[in-house]
Amino acid sequence: MSRKSRFRRGLAAAAVAAAGATALTVAAAPAQAASCSGYVGLTFDDGPSGNTPALLNALRQNGLRATMFNEGQYAAAYPAQVAAQVSAGMWVGNHTYTHPHLTQLSQAQVDSEISRTQQAIANAGGGTPRLFRPPYGETNSTVQSVAARYGLTQIIWDVDSQDWNGASTDAIVQANARLTNGQIILMHDWPANTVAAIPRIAQTLASKGLCAGMISPQTGRAVAPG
Ligand SMILES: [Zn+2]
Repeated sequence: MSRKSRFRRGLAAAAVAAAGATALTVAAAPAQAASCSGYVGLTFDDGPSGNTPALLNALRQNGLRATMFNEGQYAAAYPAQVAAQVSAGMWVGNHTYTHPHLTQLSQAQVDSEISRTQQAIANAGGGTPRLFRPPYGETNSTVQSVAARYGLTQIIWDVDSQDWNGASTDAIVQANARLTNGQIILMHDWPANTVAAIPRIAQTLASKGLCAGMISPQTGRAVAPG
């Protein structure tokens, strides 16, 4: 074989390889969409904070979207991070202004906690939230009726990652592995172990055919984004 023909064969092989790579790339997008056999709602409470950029980077790098239940006082203190949450493809919910035990407050105080948070998040560019999570999951009929007055759907959770309680990265990943279609998990904006768990959470969900979805204000369940 002459040098020239070997070179030509090399080129042909490269062309076949390139065509193969192109075909794989083209096939990858629909295959990935079809691999979502269900959706789960990842939620991160108590932000935004100085830790939010690291969390958003980890989520973005691993192709995950999530709902951030922000406190109004922090939305007011870190408005740029609320805007960054939206830019990163996250959904923003209301988690009260000062994180009180709502069931111990008067109706007027509950109203103030919720309405000031709606305003702070909107002022920061987070839009008008449709989802509300009461601190500690503590609620009653007064809380629910005030939330409803602001067009908010109350969202608790199916799985508590215990990240607020010192759970290890392994334990946080394992909590995510328990999620089934439509379910919601509680995590937080601030624990370092939570940020460290993100890549493995993405792998775990993908291995089960689950994708990170949005929480429907209509049903309160995780559904396909959009
Ligand atoms: Zn909280």
